[in-house]
Amino acid sequence: MRIDLHTHSSASDGTDSPAELVGHAVAAGLDVVALTDHDTVSGYAEAVAARAGTALTLVTGAELSCQVEGISMHMLAYLFDPEDPELTRERELVRTDRFRRAEAMTERCRELGAPISWEQVRRIAGSGAVGRPHVASALVEAGVVPSVDAAFSSEWLANGGRADVRKREFDPFEAVRLVRAAGGVTVFAHPGAVKRGRTVSEQVIADLAAAGMDGVEVDHLDHDAETRERLRGLAGDLGLLVTGSSDYHGHRKAVRLGAETTAPEVYDAIVARATGAKPVTA
Ligand code: AMP
Ligand code: ZN
Ligand code: FE
Ligand code: FE
Repeated sequence: MRIDLHTHSSASDGTDSPAELVGHAVAAGLDVVALTDHDTVSGYAEAVAARAGTALTLVTGAELSCQVEGISMHMLAYLFDPEDPELTRERELVRTDRFRRAEAMTERCRELGAPISWEQVRRIAGSGAVGRPHVASALVEAGVVPSVDAAFSSEWLANGGRADVRKREFDPFEAVRLVRAAGGVTVFAHPGAVKRGRTVSEQVIADLAAAGMDGVEVDHLDHDAETRERLRGLAGDLGLLVTGSSDYHGHRKAVRLGAETTAPEVYDAIVARATGAKPVTA
């Protein structure tokens, strides 16, 4: 079984449409793929339709933008009821604020001399939840930086960088509460991704576990071997599930589908705990 529980489509900042993502997951030989766009479920319908007639199992999910003690962090949420009113309203508030913030970041880039425009960023984002990778792609198009990754420097869009603007984000404890109330399961995404900026303390992870968070994503390309060891130990101490996943973004990031995977027992535990939705399968 090859199980990849963290991917992005053009419903947020990936470059594959949801249908293309499903096709690529089949081609990559995955048995299970989770669609976890940032703060949105708008890719579900297309992904579900594309899955029909394949042997692939599709897990519906989202990656919720959170912030605690001033530190941004991401919470993966799986198999929650996509129509739960409270969670839907909070996602909507975060998504709406992404527009204000992306326009403000575009303006900052312009003030810093980058010849990009809000129209261009909106075109790149299409109907997807707009984020820094779209602004980064505009900077690449304009020849300001050589790659999306290079745009995530302190010169431009890195956390606290010159053109970074903060957005509304969930309190992660509230995210855990809302997702649980909607029948879903929560996994802290790349908790040790230090290249993205400050990471939260082990105490916060312990507090989230006590608040009902289900797991931590340990096997992720942003974690070195030492970080994985430490997080695996912490998960063991706290009784948390351990996942691994690619965090695929299409061609906006180099990582391939299935580059990291989750053990079948862990996947089974996630499905068993979820009451908000079932995986979509043949
Ligand atoms: P946003 O939600 O708009 O703040 O954008 C977050 C997204 O930007 C993440 O999901 C990654 O895809 C990307 N990202 C964040 N930090 C980096 C980094 N250091 N290098 C490359 N991409 C990054
Ligand atoms: Zn992303
Ligand atoms: Fe993330
Ligand atoms: Fe992600």
